[in-house]
Amino acid sequence: TALSGSNAVADLDARTTELDRGHVFHSWSAQGGLALLPIAGGHGTRVWDHAGRTYLDFSSQLVNVNIGHQHPAVVAAIQEQASTLATIGPATGNLTRGVAAQRIAARAPEGFNKVFFTNGGADAVENAIRMARLHTGRDKVVSTYRSYHGNTGAAVVATGDWRRIPNEYARAHVHVFGPYLYRSEFWATTPEEECERSLRHLRRVIDCEGPASVAAILLETIPGTAGVLLPPPGYLPGVRALADEFGIMLILDEVMAGFGRTGEWFALDAYDVVPDLITFAKGVNSGYVPVGGVVISDPIARTFDDRVFPGGLTYSGHPLAAASIVAALDAMESEGIVTHAKQIGADAIGPGLAVLAEKHPVVGEVRGTGVFWAMELVADRSTREPLSAALMGRAKGELVGRGLLPFIADNRIHVVPPCVVTADEVAEALATYDEVLSLLDEEL
Ligand code: PMP
Repeated sequence: TALSGSNAVADLDARTTELDRGHVFHSWSAQGGLALLPIAGGHGTRVWDHAGRTYLDFSSQLVNVNIGHQHPAVVAAIQEQASTLATIGPATGNLTRGVAAQRIAARAPEGFNKVFFTNGGADAVENAIRMARLHTGRDKVVSTYRSYHGNTGAAVVATGDWRRIPNEYARAHVHVFGPYLYRSEFWATTPEEECERSLRHLRRVIDCEGPASVAAILLETIPGTAGVLLPPPGYLPGVRALADEFGIMLILDEVMAGFGRTGEWFALDAYDVVPDLITFAKGVNSGYVPVGGVVISDPIARTFDDRVFPGGLTYSGHPLAAASIVAALDAMESEGIVTHAKQIGADAIGPGLAVLAEKHPVVGEVRGTGVFWAMELVADRSTREPLSAALMGRAKGELVGRGLLPFIADNRIHVVPPCVVTADEVAEALATYDEVLSLLDEEL
């Protein structure tokens, strides 16, 4: 109540909204008229407001809380670390930080031994690009139009989703189309064609740009915000081969896909590809303390043995972040959370969404793996015309009104619960989606 200035629990939601609208300047939004759902607490796959209305969190808060809300071991580790050493600068040796880095590197492919810590995902991408540029002495970076890499300097330039938005940093950056069979840019009708043609397109663009000027190809292992676009099996190995041919670094962005989301420690584990740099954030500690980073392959790390790496952040390798990483990864391991994510995707989410796609004409396609799925909604199945923004807005309201927090992007509902989601919770969510999809069917 000291924070809220009110004693009545029922007033706290109204007070939250009032303070939020009055004083918080929000990300990704026009500020006028914003009214965000007040959330006061959470546990596992559920969150609630002050008045006690609960919501099934099928957004994982920007696809972040892989381990679920308020995991007791992670909370305890943060509390314990806070009482021992709440903060220390990055230019110190720190045991907890070392253990966190070791735990992450141990899950990366062989030959990745070092971790550079950042405050989140965007600055992980930022620093990976910088490492690739310094390592190769080249300037250009290639990424895809359908991508989200973050909202700082080089990361926002790399983000294809926002290519249309003017920004002050655009420099030495090239975009290509990646594979996306449902809306193929290459007139492909099979995954094999999509794979082969998108690789040919990438090669052609690099050829036109001058391969010797390209420092890095930056890809989300599975583009997330852009639609959970699982690459066809040969794509990433094909990109790797292309990069090797021209001495280009391959950066795989695992900020969203990493640490359990796909039912693997790293999404790349399922794709027979080893990059040069891996970016991570979110799932590494489920966002309990802001953190991200770059896992660095040995040859790139060695570049900086005798040469200064000029990147750095005051909060890099923060003890609270490090402690939360160690606790989260240990709990994910001992509780089999990553395996569970894979299993619940294969046994419950995938089959359940397939039933919805069968039943509802508004569903154009469902795709995904683990706890990383998208339902693509269309106004017309034959033309694949995306469902209108107005109807997507209606869908969001109807889902929230039924107690489900969705992740909605463009014409898609992303089905992205925490990895710990239970079969009962999946069934509950599927029933809610089912009702709302029926409403949308009626609108068509
Ligand atoms: N890369 C990917 C793949 C992401 O999904 C995101 C965030 N959604 C980012 C980078 C940026 O991370 P952050 O918001 O922590 O800066």
